[in-house]
Amino acid sequence: MSGTETRWLTKDTAIIDLNFQGAEKVIAAYLLETDAGLALIETGPASTIDTLVRGVESLGRDVADIRDLLVTHIHLDHAGAAGLLMQRNPEARLYVHEVGAPHSIDPTNLVRSATRIYGDQMDTLWGEIVPVPADRVVALTDGESFDLGGRRFNVLYTPGHASHHVAFHDERHNLAFTGDVAGIRIPPSPDVLPPTPPPDINVPLWHTSVAKLRELAPARLLLTHFGVVNDVQAHLDLLDRRLDEWVVLLEALVAEGIDRDAMVERLKAHVAAQMESDGTTGVALQTALATPYGMAVDGLLRYLRKRDEMAS
Ligand SMILES: [Zn+2]
Repeated sequence: MSGTETRWLTKDTAIIDLNFQGAEKVIAAYLLETDAGLALIETGPASTIDTLVRGVESLGRDVADIRDLLVTHIHLDHAGAAGLLMQRNPEARLYVHEVGAPHSIDPTNLVRSATRIYGDQMDTLWGEIVPVPADRVVALTDGESFDLGGRRFNVLYTPGHASHHVAFHDERHNLAFTGDVAGIRIPPSPDVLPPTPPPDINVPLWHTSVAKLRELAPARLLLTHFGVVNDVQAHLDLLDRRLDEWVVLLEALVAEGIDRDAMVERLKAHVAAQMESDGTTGVALQTALATPYGMAVDGLLRYLRKRDEMAS
């Protein structure tokens, strides 16, 4: 089953719910129609490729017509299926930031570090990671634009969550596809959470990227986790605030001297209290799948360590 969230948002832009781990509203891919065929923004993980195929079919289209794959960054929940899709579609090309491109072509390090984190869960969670042929990769840089069948896209380099993260601005509808840089917000929750896994978290850079999105002032944000945001400026303000709150919380936990697992419990409790006061405990499962708290703590601790090393 593809998720009930799968639908056309405009006549040429659709959201596909990949039903990650059987849960709705965790990972989205976006299908775009252009005069040159179909494009996909985010492929999702390889483990959900069958759901992706069925989602495209349920929208009345065929995966074989996808010509262009755009990914915001190479983390496995965003780009894990790229290699498999390109094997199936020999014409397709992958658009990825120049720093991420080498890891799509040779995913050895990517798979190795993911295996270190996920161990024997690797295959269940992410599926088979297939390398992408180098001659079909379009390496992107900040500020460039490209045209897909009459539809123009601008590339915004938006590090902070990942050092090679980009957002895509669709000029036709003034939409911003923001990957993880605009945070996680599971509908109908009004709350925004920053996904902070290792190894690249950089809070000042993240704020700069959020400022860039604010200045772009798109009509809507399209989050990978999950869906459409209409109150763009308020959403971005809240993300900035939450990011700083998490840093302050982690600094306090480090000062307390508690161990890592205790920190994970405290972050979990912090978010649970927030959900309780928002009345949005119904999205707790989706939130935890989109940003596992252990990884969130590890990523922030690594950031604090790097920051303090730089300062001394
Ligand atoms: Zn993600």
